[in-house]
Amino acid sequence: TRPVRLSVQLYPYGGGRKLLLSRDVTAVEQAEAMRRDFVANVSHEIRTPLTVLSGFVETLQTLELEPLERDSYLDLMAQQGRRMQSLVDDLLTLSKLEGSPSPGVDVWSSVLTLMRQLAQDAHSLTRVINIDGKALHDLKFECLFQGEIAGVAAELHSAMGNLVSNAIRYTPPGGQIWVSFKRLPGGQATFEVLDSGAGIAPEHLPRLTERFYRVDRSRSRETGGTGLGLAIVKHVAQRHGGYLTVESRLGKGSSFRITFPAERLREAAY
Ligand code: ADP
Repeated sequence: TRPVRLSVQLYPYGGGRKLLLSRDVTAVEQAEAMRRDFVANVSHEIRTPLTVLSGFVETLQTLELEPLERDSYLDLMAQQGRRMQSLVDDLLTLSKLEGSPSPGVDVWSSVLTLMRQLAQDAHSLTRVINIDGKALHDLKFECLFQGEIAGVAAELHSAMGNLVSNAIRYTPPGGQIWVSFKRLPGGQATFEVLDSGAGIAPEHLPRLTERFYRVDRSRSRETGGTGLGLAIVKHVAQRHGGYLTVESRLGKGSSFRITFPAERLREAAY
């Protein structure tokens, strides 16, 4: 049984009688609480890099620093700027997704092109992460369905790219990441990202797609995470008639899958 919140009002009803009106405001109050939480979270997420940034500005203004030291401060400031930029980009993406109707089945994108773009992005991302010369991730991309998918290519690319970049960010260098797109016997298709990384304990799984929910806050921040990636993935999947599933074992790795319905797929019209 869920707690119910009632709003009760008494109105004069003639002859000294009163009319009692009660309304179930549970949903309204829940929506309001979620909105408040969201605003508090966004403010906190913006305030942290902003505080760091102003601290560095003050240091640069007050201290005479060696050029090398000054450059390293400037690098850290640029990093905080990028963090705010990604946060605002992700917030705008989410609000655009929420405010626009689901894409129909009139625009088709090549799955192979999407997979090629993802592979290119992933290779440049691992190079950035492994700038200190550590072994690159073992990345494998397999496109077993070479037809087309109905939907907005930019949205699909951003959702799939989020899963790939998460796999890279939460898998130590040297780990394996397998990305595949394949058709299932029933006609549906799955895009899967499998990694041999940190894994996620079962109690966290149900909350992963909540905005700003992170299992390891510092790891997420360190690698440039906004905490909004999986919320975006879930949204895009749903807008395309699909859904996101996660399987994971702590210390072993994770598998994130988007399943698309058969009516969103067609063989290439060569
Ligand atoms: P973030 O920007 O923090 O990565 P996401 O919404 O993309 O935000 O993911 C939410 C959380 O889920 C992450 O903070 C991380 O704890 C966990 N997570 C996501 N992908 C993986 C993965 N491949 N392996 C381990 N943990 C993951």
